[in-house]
Amino acid sequence: MMRQFDQDCIFCKIAKGDIPSKIVYQDEFVTAFEDLSPVTPVHILIIPNGHYRDLNDCGEDEAGLLGHILLSAAKIAKIQGISDSGYRVVANDGPDAGQTVFHLHFHLLGGRPMNFRSQ
Ligand code: 5GP
Ligand code: ZN
Repeated sequence: MMRQFDQDCIFCKIAKGDIPSKIVYQDEFVTAFEDLSPVTPVHILIIPNGHYRDLNDCGEDEAGLLGHILLSAAKIAKIQGISDSGYRVVANDGPDAGQTVFHLHFHLLGGRPMNFRSQ
């Protein structure tokens, strides 16, 4: 069962369409939209359509949802034309990772070579 939206959360508002964003993919479970400050030519955020703070806020009940998010990332990469050139999927969880928005989201990054260890 998907969680409800949190009325004070910016990403919940984006998923609901209450705040404008460039949505590139949406289905019953996830919403994907362009990051406001892209760090790569393709920089999409993929979020669940329900409020989860981060991965620590997920349990076995969310296993299917988390799998769906990763499969959506691959689907969106294809739509964005970066399937063959390659891409990275990242979740920043907590302070050391620099998480700034506390609604679970996965960054889909691509369109240029990336050095994992320099970021
Ligand atoms: P985090 O650092 O939490 O992993 O990433 C949050 C991301 O959300 C950042 O890359 C930031 O640019 C993006 N972001 C923050 N607020 C908004 C917004 O209102 N709209 C969009 N499209 N992206 C946002
Ligand atoms: Zn939220």
